[in-house]
Amino acid sequence: MARYTGPVCKLCRRERTKLFLKGARCESSKCAIERKPYPPGEHGRGRIRETQYLIQLREKQKARRIYGVLEKQFRGYYKQAARQKGITGENLLRILESRLDNVVYRARFAESRSQARQLVSHGHFRVNGRRVTVPSYRIRPGDTVTLKDRSKEMLVVQHAIDTAGNRTQVEWLEVDADARKITINDLPSRAQIDTQVRETLIVELYSK
Ligand code: SF4
Repeated sequence: MARYTGPVCKLCRRERTKLFLKGARCESSKCAIERKPYPPGEHGRGRIRETQYLIQLREKQKARRIYGVLEKQFRGYYKQAARQKGITGENLLRILESRLDNVVYRARFAESRSQARQLVSHGHFRVNGRRVTVPSYRIRPGDTVTLKDRSKEMLVVQHAIDTAGNRTQVEWLEVDADARKITINDLPSRAQIDTQVRETLIVELYSK
């Protein structure tokens, strides 16, 4: 599956907010948005006419970039969310949260979603005992995610656990850091998702 491989700090600057795509660096003074809090490019500091469409578009791009999903897949998630019962925007966020790479990140076994994505695609994780290498794999309540035995001592995972101090533990996951095991208690409600996006604007954009 394709993914964005360009400079990620530019994405935060484009959205004019921290998207936390680089782990510990995002909390430090090296964060690009602290030093250059304006969009990249020649006209980055120029005036922008904020139309309703632009506001909706930026909100959608922000969500896509936070979760590391390309447009086609994101639109597919929207369609699935619209078919489900309940509020489409909340369904969309729940689908994004249930991706395996996001679960690994939320469990604090990786510093960023892109690092989690790499760990998953390199085959370090098992879901219910079966090796899964697809970052977009959707977990379900009752599933268990474990690091395979040979990967349990990986420095990158230990470092992520040790430096996860500022990130709160999400309630919908039960994490046994020593055993490197995650149990999915339930899928999150909107109140349990701290992602700073206004999902209603995304729904408005796609439902035009
Ligand atoms: Fe965004 Fe992190 Fe780069 Fe700051 S350091 S601009 S939060 S990716």
